[in-house]
Amino acid sequence: MTKYAITWLREDFRIENNPALSYATQNHEKVLALYIYNKNDFDNKREAQKWWLSKSLEIFKIELSKYRINLQIIEGDELDVFSKIKKKDDISIYWNKIYEPDVIAKGKKIRDIFIKNQIEFKYFKGNILNEFQEVTKNDGTPFKVFTPFWKNAEQKFLSLPPKKKYVIKKMKKPISFFKNCIDPKNILPKKNWYKKFENYWKVSETESKKILNNLIDNKIREYGTARDYPSIEGTSKLSPYIKHGQIHVNTIWQKCSEIKSKGNGYRKYINELGWREFSHSLINYFPEFLKGNYRKEFDKFPWIKNEKFLKAWKSGMTGYPIVDAGMRELYETGWMHNRIRMVVGSFLVKHLRINWTEGEKYFRNCLLDFNKANNIAQWQWVAGCGADAAPYFRIFNPILQGEKFDKEGKYVKKWIPELDKVPQKFIHKPWEMELNFQEDIKTIIGKDYPKPIVTHEVARKAALSAFQQLKS
Ligand SMILES: Cc1cc2nc3c(=O)[nH]c(=O)nc-3n(C[C@H](O)[C@H](O)[C@H](O)COP(=O)(O)OP(=O)(O)OC[C@H]3O[C@@H](n4cnc5c(N)ncnc54)[C@H](O)[C@@H]3O)c2cc1C
Repeated sequence: MTKYAITWLREDFRIENNPALSYATQNHEKVLALYIYNKNDFDNKREAQKWWLSKSLEIFKIELSKYRINLQIIEGDELDVFSKIKKKDDISIYWNKIYEPDVIAKGKKIRDIFIKNQIEFKYFKGNILNEFQEVTKNDGTPFKVFTPFWKNAEQKFLSLPPKKKYVIKKMKKPISFFKNCIDPKNILPKKNWYKKFENYWKVSETESKKILNNLIDNKIREYGTARDYPSIEGTSKLSPYIKHGQIHVNTIWQKCSEIKSKGNGYRKYINELGWREFSHSLINYFPEFLKGNYRKEFDKFPWIKNEKFLKAWKSGMTGYPIVDAGMRELYETGWMHNRIRMVVGSFLVKHLRINWTEGEKYFRNCLLDFNKANNIAQWQWVAGCGADAAPYFRIFNPILQGEKFDKEGKYVKKWIPELDKVPQKFIHKPWEMELNFQEDIKTIIGKDYPKPIVTHEVARKAALSAFQQLKS
C-alpha cells in the first residue's frame, strides 16, 4: 500500500456516504483531496453551475480540514494532470463513478495512464441507487419504458445487501502535492448574474440534510399533489445538491424508507428518484440520446429557426405569463419548478417549433441542477422524440396550465411584477382585458408586458400539421 492517497473529487462534496474518501482515509497515512477544474466543461456551457461548484469547493475545503485533509484545486485537463504522477510519488488514487458515457470514456483513458505509470487506483459506486448494468429485462436487454424499469430497479435495490457505513478517519496532518493551485473564487462566472443565487441557496452538505429532514417531516405526505403547484414549495429542491453530490441518493432513500406510514406522497417522491435512475440508464444504453433525437423519424421534423422568438422565450417575454414566469424564475434563481419546465419546454418545441436542443442548451447553462442524463432525457420526453416520451400531439395549453396550477396567479405575479394589478380572471390571458381597463390598472398589454408572440390555437394547429409530415 502506498503512503499517500489522493481522493479525486468530482461530484462528491460530502462526508457521508462517500466511498472513495472513506477508503482513502481508512487505508493510508496521508490523504489529499483533489479537484481538477476543466474549464472546457463549463465555459459558455454551464455558467450557473460555476457558482455552485465554486461554493461547493469553498465550503468542502473547510469541512475536509476538520479531518486534516487538504483540498487542492487545479485548473487543467484531467489526462494532463494525472499523466504527471509517477510511481516514485508513492501515491494511490481513488474516485467515485459518474454515469455519463463521455465521462466513463475519459475514465478509461485515465485508468490506462495509471496502468502504464504503475499507479495504484480504485473507483467506487457513484451517486446512484443501481448501476445501469444491474437493471435489465430477463433477456438482458435494457428497458425503454419507465414503469417496468422502475418496478425492476426498485426490487433490485431492495435486494442489495445492507448499505455499508463509509466512515471518514481523521488524518494525522494535511498534505499538499500539486503546485499552481487555484482559489475556488477563480471559478466564478465572469457575469455578476450569479450573485442573485446567493439569495436563494446555501450550498453545503449540512443544508442538504436540513432540506431532507424538512421534506420528511413536513412535505412528503402532501407531495403527490403539492408538487404540481409552483407557487408553493411542494417539492424538495434537492436537485442541485444531488447533482453536486452534497447528498447521496442512498441517504435520501434511507430516510424515506424510515417513514412509518408510507402514503401516496412517499410513493410519488420515490418514483421521481426512479426517473433519475431511468434517465441514467437510457443515456448509457443508448448513447445516441446525447447526440440528437432518440426517435430517428424526428430528424426530418420541420423545426423553425427564429432568433426573435428564441430570445423572447429565454428572456421571459413571450406574452404567456406562466411561460414567462418560469423563464424568469430560472434566470433569477438557477432553478425552475418541474411542472413549469414541462410547460416552457412544450411551448418552445410545439408553439414556437424551435428544436428542443436549443432549450436543452439554455437549461444546461442556467440550471444549477443541470444533469446531462435528466436534461437530455426530459427535453426529449417533452419534444416527443425520446423513449417513453409524451406524444408530440399532446400540446400543453399555457393558459389552461396556468389556470389549473396557478389559479390565483401567485406564481406569475411573483416573477412578473408588471402583472401585479391584473385580476385573477385575466392573469393567464392578460391580452383579453379591455383597453379601458388596462389603462385603469396601468398595465398596457403590448407596452408594459408583451402581447402573445403566437396565438395558441394557430400555433397548436401548425404544430400538429408539422407532426403529420413525419408520418407521410
Ligand atoms: C425540460 C426538463 C429539463 C430538466 N432538466 C433537469 C436537469 O438538468 N437536472 C435535473 O436534476 N432534473 C431535470 N429535470 C427534472 C425535474 O424538473 C427536476 O429534477 C426537479 O424539478 C428538481 O426539483 P426538486 O429537487 O424539487 O424535485 P423533487 O420533486 O423534489 O424530486 C426529487 C428528485 O428526483 C429527481 N427528479 C425529479 N423529477 C425528475 C424527472 N422528471 N426526471 C429525472 N429526475 C427527476 C431529481 O433528482 C429531484 O431532485 C428536467 C425536467 C424537464 C421537464
